[in-house]
Amino acid sequence: MHSQSENTHNKQLLQETITPAASIADTLIADLVAAEQVRQQQSMSFIASENHTSQQIMRITGSVLTNKYAEGYPGKRYYAGCAVVDEIEAVAIERCKKLFGAEHANVQPHAGCQANFAVYQAVLKPGDTIMGMSLDAGGHLTHGHGVNASGSLYKAVQYAVDRDTQLLDYDAIERLAHEHKPKLIIAGASSYSRIIDFERFAAIARNTGALLMADIAHIAGFVATGLHPSPLGVADFVTSTTHKTLRGPRGGLIMCKAEYAQHLDRAIIPGTQGGPLLHAIAAKAVAFHEAMQPDFTVYQQQVLTNARTMADTFAVLGYAIVSGGTDNHMFTLDLRSKNITGLVAQQALEAIGIAVSRSCIPFDTQKPWITSGIRIGTPAMTTRGMTTTMAVELTHLIDEALRHADDAPFLKRLADQVKPVALTHRLP
Ligand SMILES: *Cc1c(COP(=O)(O)O)cnc(C)c1O
Repeated sequence: MHSQSENTHNKQLLQETITPAASIADTLIADLVAAEQVRQQQSMSFIASENHTSQQIMRITGSVLTNKYAEGYPGKRYYAGCAVVDEIEAVAIERCKKLFGAEHANVQPHAGCQANFAVYQAVLKPGDTIMGMSLDAGGHLTHGHGVNASGSLYKAVQYAVDRDTQLLDYDAIERLAHEHKPKLIIAGASSYSRIIDFERFAAIARNTGALLMADIAHIAGFVATGLHPSPLGVADFVTSTTHKTLRGPRGGLIMCKAEYAQHLDRAIIPGTQGGPLLHAIAAKAVAFHEAMQPDFTVYQQQVLTNARTMADTFAVLGYAIVSGGTDNHMFTLDLRSKNITGLVAQQALEAIGIAVSRSCIPFDTQKPWITSGIRIGTPAMTTRGMTTTMAVELTHLIDEALRHADDAPFLKRLADQVKPVALTHRLP
């Protein structure tokens, strides 16, 4: 139980971090936004795809730029009044190219999915064969899953991971590529905790006459800081989100070799999008600048250290980790030996103020709504200044919650331990 003074202290901490919404007339939505800010501040996200972006990025995102139409590209717009936004987009493009070492960059994709579809639009015709990683192995819906347009517009062949090692089996991928002759091979994942060998993927694409797209949505922050091998200059196209490890605004981007530049740009507009989101593009420019600063590399290194520390601690506590560990910001716990599903685990952790995403494990026999695992990621907690000591402490709290998932009073007591930690680690 908490003392009166502790509760007052918690309330004070919370109030200091909440932006007053007093000037917003629509109190229904303003109050809900404030409620979400409270929720984020007094809980913790271990969702591998989430992060907390900087104050300056949030301010730029909420700017007058949202009012401007600018179909086209800098210097070639369909609308008048684009002189200023031309400069903004040009800066974003230049910074993106510099940060990643790209020959060409398109910063207009509204999100990661749109980035991927623009590449498909650029190089494929409906019915062409694509090859991507299956969802349960850790791939993304847009890599050819049956319920996604990528799986119905194109003939999708899916590769998985090795059943025993749970690692990408490049020889098996190469055999599959020889057999199906895809026009495009997609390398990249939403839930794969090991280094991806883009060079090897490029060799497979070369040997089988395919183009290669690398989707670095999750690992862009590491690629930008040299902590994961870069697919730039290796893959024909590189797509990404800007809001995961890269810690920018919600959005997407595409980079490619100069020879595909015109084709790619036309695949965004007029191919798949209309007016670009200039408020997001300006915020992406700020994010690229932030990512070039030395402290961003320090942050990315801490994300890696925290993930490794948590995975090691879970292993000591007797948990099975998919592929045995992690080289990046995330890992997936295989909960089968703990007799708990991903869904129940996610709900127990939500009850103590810790958000994770339930996740399929390779060759999962549970339905995608239930799953046998949870995916745990460290980008957001690291942004809030948590280091290895806290990573160990929180791992023990998560373990306790998973061992008492059906004991509501016990979970309530754990929640009382999580909340003060969350409150003292401020949102940016
Ligand atoms: C998150 C993700 C995407 C999609 O990004 P959205 O911004 O949600 O559209 C695409 N590919 C991979 C590998 C991802 O993890």
